[in-house]
Amino acid sequence: MSKMAIIGSGTMGRGIAYVAALNGFSVAVHDINTESLTLAENYIQQELIKSEQLGYISKQDMNTCLNNLTFHSDLSLAVEDCDIAIEAVLEIMDVKIDVFQKLDKLCPPKTVLATNTSTMSPTEIGAQTGRPDKVIAMHFFNPVHKMKLIEVIRGLDTSQETVEFVRDIGTKMKKETVEVNEFPGFITSRMNCLIGNEAMNMLLEGVASAEDIDKAINLGLNHPMGPLALADLVGLDTRLRNMEYLHQTLGEKYRPCPLLKKYVKAGKLGVKTGSGFFHYTEAK
Ligand code: NAD
Repeated sequence: MSKMAIIGSGTMGRGIAYVAALNGFSVAVHDINTESLTLAENYIQQELIKSEQLGYISKQDMNTCLNNLTFHSDLSLAVEDCDIAIEAVLEIMDVKIDVFQKLDKLCPPKTVLATNTSTMSPTEIGAQTGRPDKVIAMHFFNPVHKMKLIEVIRGLDTSQETVEFVRDIGTKMKKETVEVNEFPGFITSRMNCLIGNEAMNMLLEGVASAEDIDKAINLGLNHPMGPLALADLVGLDTRLRNMEYLHQTLGEKYRPCPLLKKYVKAGKLGVKTGSGFFHYTEAK
């Protein structure tokens, strides 16, 4: 059984931990915020109960998954002897670099260090460590247990061995992978941020209501989910950081819609706070 450490137990970290533990990895989850760790543990338990009740997994799978998981506020305990550490902290380069420098010091030399960044450069992150050949981006999607894809983004110095190692982990987690040459926003975030931003600009211009914009894209263009509901699911704070990075690196086309900034200032961050472009009965 390979040992995995997940750094950051928010929307993505808890989802990656859940799927990895369910597929036989021994998973240690770390967060600097103990409340987030507790929420992550509760989230995974609830998802397991739902999946078992719906017949997707057995009681035995559920127990194995729970036994495979540990939660730590101490980073050094979480990464002890791990084969791979996957970072899922905030989309802020300085925060990510700080985490990778700590991981580089604490992890054994064998450990591959992966970032779940939606937009940023694994080359820039890898260059701040003593093992750029073992640094790579693994971009999972939300919710992790439902979404089939992982984008694998190789930095300038990432070795072929590291690429193959993480693609194999993806397969063991029952995901498909695509390999992307490093460029801001990769394939999916670059496209998705633009669609979402256009929907927000339409809402701002009064073209249609949020409900009708999403209904049009859902039923007229056959997207499984409308772009405003998807932004709410991602988290509007996370989406704004993605847009700001893409605006800075790719130019004017990616200027974040002022409405997105206004929602973030108001603390309306989408599903996780119970309110964003739409309202939700309970925050997750
Ligand atoms: P989030 O805000 O839900 O969670 C971030 C977590 O990181 C929080 O629990 C926070 O306490 C923790 N954290 C912050 N600094 C830390 C540190 N130094 N050490 C340990 N933990 C720390 O964010 P998220 O939506 O899970 O996004 C995480 C990453 O995944 C971002 O890079 C984001 O762009 C990317 N991503 C997000 C989505 C999405 O749909 N939300 C999808 C794909 C990728």
